[in-house]
Amino acid sequence: MLETKTPSAAPVLIAGGGIGGMAMALTLHQIGVPCVVYEAVPELQPLGVGINLQPNAVRELYDLGLDDRVLDRIGIQAREWALVGRNGREIYAEPRGLAAGYRWPQYSVHRGELQMLLYRTVLERLGPGAVQLGQRVTGYRNGEEGVTAQIETRDGQRREAQGALLVAADGLHSAVRAQMHPQQPPIHWGGAIMWRGTTPGVPIRTGASFVGLGSLKHRVVCYPISQPDPATGLATINWIAEITVDNSQGWTQGDWNRRVAIDEFIHHFAGWDYGWIDVPALLRGASQVYEYPMIDRDPVPTWVDGRVALLGDAAHVMYPVGSNGASQAIVDARVQGAALQAQGVGPAALRAYDDRLCADISALVLRNRGAGPFGLLGLVDERCGGVFDDIDQVVPKAEREAFMARYKAAAGFAIETLNAAPPTVRV
Ligand SMILES: Cc1cc2nc3c(=O)[nH]c(=O)nc-3n(C[C@H](O)[C@H](O)[C@H](O)COP(=O)(O)OP(=O)(O)OC[C@H]3O[C@@H](n4cnc5c(N)ncnc54)[C@H](O)[C@@H]3O)c2cc1C
Repeated sequence: MLETKTPSAAPVLIAGGGIGGMAMALTLHQIGVPCVVYEAVPELQPLGVGINLQPNAVRELYDLGLDDRVLDRIGIQAREWALVGRNGREIYAEPRGLAAGYRWPQYSVHRGELQMLLYRTVLERLGPGAVQLGQRVTGYRNGEEGVTAQIETRDGQRREAQGALLVAADGLHSAVRAQMHPQQPPIHWGGAIMWRGTTPGVPIRTGASFVGLGSLKHRVVCYPISQPDPATGLATINWIAEITVDNSQGWTQGDWNRRVAIDEFIHHFAGWDYGWIDVPALLRGASQVYEYPMIDRDPVPTWVDGRVALLGDAAHVMYPVGSNGASQAIVDARVQGAALQAQGVGPAALRAYDDRLCADISALVLRNRGAGPFGLLGLVDERCGGVFDDIDQVVPKAEREAFMARYKAAAGFAIETLNAAPPTVRV
């Protein structure tokens, strides 16, 4: 058990029971620090579609005792990441996870299944009182010895909870971030619209490939998030169909996550049948489709105010072009855990966490606005309008590889660095 700088009974308060909040709770439990998660929704449900967990985050889940025996049940180990031009020709492909030489796999999983796995694990390890549902954190007050979280319950009651620290993992619309940075600009939308769904289908290429097909402003991404059914050979294929439009009027649909009919957007992908992938059939095969604008927030100069720290999307919501939103939320929790281990449960540890991550990850947020690894499609568009016979004549192999290496180093998943790094949290 760690020495705490506040009365030992005071738990760390966590706002938000998403992937970041649950990873934080498991980390605190692992290092012997009591905590309580306050989650706004009255019932957690497995919402969302596919996400990728990069090896840097999978390593942290393994260190929490959630290894391949558990993760193989909710997802599939990714083997390849590939970009294909609108003409159906390959631009770039590289192995991923274990196949790339990482000591840990990359996983493609259903976001909601991962959240539920973490939730169940928190309840098993910390007990049923560790997650309080229907409790929305609306603000905070820093004190000398601790912090007060203001909470609104589902039936409209207001109450307060006292803690040693408050970790705000309350997502994109974070109330804590809004109080910490009252001048923050509104959500930023660059003009890309994504339609997302899952469809039963036969996995393409390696059987566990992430494929981006098309051009920078008009593309489809797909990858399996389950093992194929042994009887039918069909896996759950996660897909994202995306176009970029003029954003000068702002996002006018109001809703950030709207269920839509396939006929509202499928015309953008008419004729995208390459034999090895029939995009219109893939899109039509989904039972539910959701529309999301691709949004983020301008970075803030700090994620910490006294005894309060932002984590996950509350700190750095970013365009999902590099598959690192959920991964970074997990890594944040582990880096913060390590700081608490080293410095005790107090503001100094939060400052160390802030120093370690805020500037670098804020730069990643801005880098992802430039399309992240999909920027390669932009280079191809610029140089040949997306039509080529020999990709080496357009973007030479060395240039393609250098582009991807730069991105991976910035996102914290350079292979040798990660493989050689000591565990983030000492256990
Ligand atoms: C319903 C849902 C579906 C999603 N689907 C996808 C997807 O399909 N693909 C994808 O790439 N990303 C998706 N995301 C985003 C993705 O989960 C995050 O980018 C990533 O996992 C980082 O997680 P996080 O824990 O920081 O935030 P989130 O996963 O957003 O979790 C935040 C949690 O905090 C809760 N919360 C919000 N405000 C408060 C408050 N004031 N007090 C207490 N609790 C609060 C929310 O209910 C939520 O459970 C989804 C997020 C949500 C909430």
